[in-house]
Formats: sequence, structure tokens, C-alpha cells
Amino acid sequence: MGDKFAVGVDLGGTKILAGVVNLTTGQILSAAKKKTRVVEEGSELVKRIAACIGDALQDAAAVDAKFESKKLVGIGVGAAGMVDRENGILLAAANIGGTNDLAIAEPLSAQYGLPVKLGNDVEVATLGELYFGAGRECDNFVCMFIGTGIGSGIVNNGKIYRGGYGTAGEVGHMIVVPDGLPCGCGGYGCLETYASRTAIAKTVLYDIQHGMDTVLADKIDANKGILRSKAIAQGLEINDHSTVRAITQAAQYLGIGLASVINFYNPKRIILGGGLVEAVPHFFDLAELEARRRALRIPSRKTEIVRAELGDYAGTIGAALLLRS
Ligand SMILES: [Zn+2]
Repeated sequence: MGDKFAVGVDLGGTKILAGVVNLTTGQILSAAKKKTRVVEEGSELVKRIAACIGDALQDAAAVDAKFESKKLVGIGVGAAGMVDRENGILLAAANIGGTNDLAIAEPLSAQYGLPVKLGNDVEVATLGELYFGAGRECDNFVCMFIGTGIGSGIVNNGKIYRGGYGTAGEVGHMIVVPDGLPCGCGGYGCLETYASRTAIAKTVLYDIQHGMDTVLADKIDANKGILRSKAIAQGLEINDHSTVRAITQAAQYLGIGLASVINFYNPKRIILGGGLVEAVPHFFDLAELEARRRALRIPSRKTEIVRAELGDYAGTIGAALLLRS
């Protein structure tokens, strides 16, 4: 028999990361990377994904003599956007050049003669944690990923729960402040406008605009509101006032969101992921404290709150796992 393999593709706003993944062990045999390039045509993007897959496959044969393409069961793609899983179409992806209704599965399947499955990035990262990360041996948990926005994947009875119409898990749009700040979804006061990395950048930007000195002043992209997790960690290390203020505020709101998830869904475990959680332990600790303080007594004591384990390759490993589920 031997192990089975699948190609996993993490299709993000800045890069495409393809890898040949051992579906039994979760190990990555080989990987290849290309820039996404936001300006190009949709068909160009598919060509680029195909080329990235080709590179990863070529490397797999080179690094492992035992790897045979006949053990390859398919290709999984996890995309940062809304997907039509049944037809393998990327419906909308604001971060991938505003790509709309792009057929992904069909052209890739035709080129490689393999089944191709498409999922969204949060869903596949959750699959990765379920099989090989912090969700192993837990059949009931919620993964929350904090980045430029906040997304979540729900696992119920060992399977991804997608909801009645396939949109479950939009925890970033849980409303925490009535008539609060405007959100990218068109609503107001959503959790991700208060607790994401973008929210932290906005707080710091506000301080700068109001004349406060902060070490983050030359690290923030004021036009795009981008602030890297590493810079935030460094600011916190030296007790930079604005950084402390921004982190504390975001962690409190995240804790409020977590408490609602705990009360409503009663997961056995909550797994927190994303660069900010990895780089800033204090952010995780504060959010956990706030969540336990606010959630109902029994689930507050029992629910485990842990960090995601798969890091940079979560999307690639998880996408390959679409062929297993
Ligand atoms: Zn929203």
C-alpha cells in the first residue's frame, strides 16, 4: 500500500505556495512558491498556479526516489476568498486582485489529469489543525485566525461544519459595538474592526496623527494601514505606550468575541492562529484572560484555549487534506 500523496496549494493575496504533502503523516515532501501578482488576468493566475504545482511535483521526484506520481490522489487548493466548492470556482477574492468567478478546478484537472478540490483558506487551515496540528484527537473545536481580518473554522463531530448555506464561521463579523466602526463587509462594529492586526494598526495610526511618540511610527504603512506582527512584538518589548494601548484594546475585544463563541457553541477547544498570535504571546494571554472572565462559569473553566501549530505551511497541508475529507 504505502502512503498517499496530494498536492496542496495555498492561494493567498501575495503568494502561491504549492507543496506535495504526505496525507498519512502531514509531512511536506517538496514545495514551490510564486508571487500572486494582483494585476493580472484570471487565466494568467491559473497558469501561475499550474506552474507552481509543476515545480513542486518535479522537486518531489528529485528529493524522494520513493515518490511515485501514481500515489498522487489529487490537488487541493485553498484560496483566500469565497468559493463554490462543488464546481471548483473562486467566486470572489478581494485580496487576489478582485478576482471574480474564476474556474480553478476544471483547468487544473484537465492539465494534470487529477481530481481537484477547492476550499477557502480558513477552512483548509482548520483541516490542517484537525489532522496534524492543535486539533488532533479533538472532535469539537473552533479555529480562529487573526490577521488582516478574523476568520474561523468550526469542527463538529470531527468534520468541518459549514452551516445551512455554507457561510458558517464568519466570526470576524460578529457585531461587538452597535453603530461602531465601519467594516469591509458593509456593516458596523464587527469584531475584526476592533481585534484584527488591521485594527491594531488603526489604533497606532490614530496615536501618531494625534502627536503621540511611538517606535512604530516608521514601521507602519500609513496609506495601507499595514503593520507587521514582528514590529508590534518589538514595540511591546520596550513598553511603547501606543503599542501597549493598541494590543490591550484589541485583545480585550478578541476576548469578548471568544467569550461569545464559548457561550454559544460550547467548543471543547479554541485554537488561535495567525502571525499576531505567534509573534505576540501577550496578545494571546490577554485575550484568554478576558474570555475566561466574561464567559459563562462552566464552559469558561473547561474550554481549552491553545495556539495553532502548523504555522506557515498550514494552508498548503490543509489544502492537500481536501482530498482526504
Ligand atoms: Zn463586518
